[in-house]
Amino acid sequence: MDKQFDVIIIGSGAGGGTLARHLAPSGKSILILERGDWLKREALNWSPAAVFQQNRYIAPDTWYDKSGQPFQPQVHYFVGGATKMYGAALYRLREKDFEEVRHYDGISPAWPIRYEDLEPYYAKAEDMYFVHGLRGADPTEPPASGPYPCPPVSSEPRIQQLFDDLAAAGYHPFPAPSAVMMDEQNMAYSRCIRCQTCDGFPCLVHAKSDAEVCAVRPALEFPNVTLLRHAHALKLETNANGTSVTSIEAEVGGERETFRGDIVVVSCGAANSAKLLLMSANDKHPKGLANGSDQVGRNYMFHNSQAVLALSREPNPTFFQKTLALNDFYFGMEGFDYPVGNIQMIGKTLGPMFRGEKPLLTALVPTRLLDDVAYHSVDFWLTTEDIPDPENRVTVDEAGKLTLSYTPNNQVPTRKLYDKLKSMLGQIGMRPDYLIPRDIYMQTEIPLAGCAHQAGTCRFGQDPKTSVLDVNCKAHELDNLYVVDTSFFVSIGAVNPSLTAIANAMRVGDHLLERMS
Ligand SMILES: Cc1cc2nc3c(=O)[nH]c(=O)nc-3n(C[C@H](O)[C@H](O)[C@H](O)COP(=O)(O)OP(=O)(O)OC[C@H]3O[C@@H](n4cnc5c(N)ncnc54)[C@H](O)[C@@H]3O)c2cc1C
Ligand code: SF4
Repeated sequence: MDKQFDVIIIGSGAGGGTLARHLAPSGKSILILERGDWLKREALNWSPAAVFQQNRYIAPDTWYDKSGQPFQPQVHYFVGGATKMYGAALYRLREKDFEEVRHYDGISPAWPIRYEDLEPYYAKAEDMYFVHGLRGADPTEPPASGPYPCPPVSSEPRIQQLFDDLAAAGYHPFPAPSAVMMDEQNMAYSRCIRCQTCDGFPCLVHAKSDAEVCAVRPALEFPNVTLLRHAHALKLETNANGTSVTSIEAEVGGERETFRGDIVVVSCGAANSAKLLLMSANDKHPKGLANGSDQVGRNYMFHNSQAVLALSREPNPTFFQKTLALNDFYFGMEGFDYPVGNIQMIGKTLGPMFRGEKPLLTALVPTRLLDDVAYHSVDFWLTTEDIPDPENRVTVDEAGKLTLSYTPNNQVPTRKLYDKLKSMLGQIGMRPDYLIPRDIYMQTEIPLAGCAHQAGTCRFGQDPKTSVLDVNCKAHELDNLYVVDTSFFVSIGAVNPSLTAIANAMRVGDHLLERMS
C-alpha cells in the first residue's frame, strides 16, 4: 500500500468518520486508521444478556483512577466508534452554552466560536444523520435555519400519556431529536423496525444513524478513501524542529507500520486522543505533542448523569422509549438561579440489564421478577453539566498506562434535578417513592467507567497558553495536526455531545478543503 496520503484520520467515530465523509468528494487521498474492526452483525447485537451482562462490545482496556485503582472503561473500538452503541439522541447545544455561564459550582467558560458559527453545520449534520424532530417544541431550542430533515418519532401510548400528563401539569415536554431511520408512514419499507434494543446496543439492521452507516461507508464509496482496520496508532513523529507531524507509527494486525500524511487528524475519543498526544512526546515537545500549554489531557468532562427508573402499577410495553425530553430546568428552576439540566428518556429497561449492573444484588432474584420490574418501569436519563477542571485529567506513564483522575463537581444541581423529577412524577400521579437509580451505560457501579460522554481533553481557544487547539481545531504548536473528536469541547453543556462533534468535524472539514485547494 502507498503510505503517503493527503490526509490521515485516526479514529472513525463521530468526529473522524464524519470528517472522512465530508472530505471524500474532494478527491484528496484519505486514509482512516481505525484500531477496531467492523462491529459484527450477529443476532447477539440485540441480546440484552450478551450486551449488558457479558459486555460483548466493550474493549478489554484497563484504566486507573486517581488512587491507582484499575477499572474497565466502557469504550467501544469499532468502525464508527462509540456511535455504534449510542442512543442516537442528537441535540444541538443551546446558544448560551457557547458563552460563559455561571454554574452552582463555578464557571463554564466561553467557546471561541458562537452558536451562529456552528448553526449551518448543525443543519448539515442533522441531514447527514437523518435526525427526526420538531422545531419550536422545545422552549430552550436555539434558532435553526430550517426544519429537521425528518418528522419526529411518535411516542407509544405509555410515553404519550406521560407527555400529555406533563404538559397538562404545565411543563414543556418535546419530541426528542432522534437519529434512527424510521419511516412511520411506510413501516413496511422502513429500515428501522422500532425495536426495544437500540440505546446501548448496536443496530443489527443498520438503521441507526451511526458514524459507520452515515459517514464511513458512504466515504468508502469514493475511490480516494481507504479504511485500515485493526490499525492502532501508537505515536506521532515530528520533523526535527517539532513544527509538523511527519509520520504515524501504528500497529496493524500485530505488525509495526509507518504512515505519512500531509495533514494528520486525531479523533480517537477524548481520553485516547490525549493519550496519543502524550505518548508522542519528543525533544521539542517534552510534555507531549502540542502540549506546551500543559493542557493536553486536562478538563476531562463526561456529564453528571443519572439513569433512573420509575416503577408504576401500570405496565409500560413501550418498544422505542426515547421519544420525550424536557429542558424546562436547563437554565435554572424556581428558587435556584443556576443551570440544572436536561431530562430525557433512555432505552427501555429490560430484565437482563439488572444482572449486568448489579450482579451480586440480583444473583438470587428470579428472572421472571426482574422482567416484571422492567415491564413496569418508565426510564429516565438526567444530565447536568460537569464543570471543566484542570485537575480532572488524563495522564499516561511511559508504558502507556492511562490514569483518569476525576473529582466530581456541580453535584447540587444534579440532586435538584433528581428531586424535581420525583416531585413532577408525584404531581402526575406516578409513585415518586418508586424512583430507582440505575447504572445503565456503565454495566458497572464505578461511575468513572461510564465514559460514554467523555469530552474536553484538548480544548480549542484563541490563546495558546490556555488551549491546545486553535479555532480551526489545529494544534497551536504544529502546522498540520488537527483534533476533531469531542476533545475540543471547552464545556459540555447538558445535552448529548455527538451532534456537536459531528457538526464541528464538518466545520473543520471546510477549513481543510480551503487549505488544500
Ligand atoms: C452507550 C452509549 C450511548 C450514547 N448515547 C448517545 C446519545 O444518545 N447521543 C449522543 O449525542 N451521544 C451519545 N453517546 C456518546 C457518543 O457516542 C460519543 O459522544 C461520540 O461517539 C464521540 O465521538 P468521538 O469521535 O469523540 O469518539 P468515538 O466515536 O468514540 O470514536 C473514536 C474512534 O477512535 C478509535 N481509536 C481510539 N484510539 C485509537 C488509536 N490509537 N488508533 C486508531 N483508532 C483509535 C476508536 O476505536 C473509535 O472508533 C453515547 C455513547 C455510548 C457509549
Ligand atoms: S430501534 Fe431502529 S435503529 Fe434502533 S436498533 Fe432497533 S431497528 Fe435499529
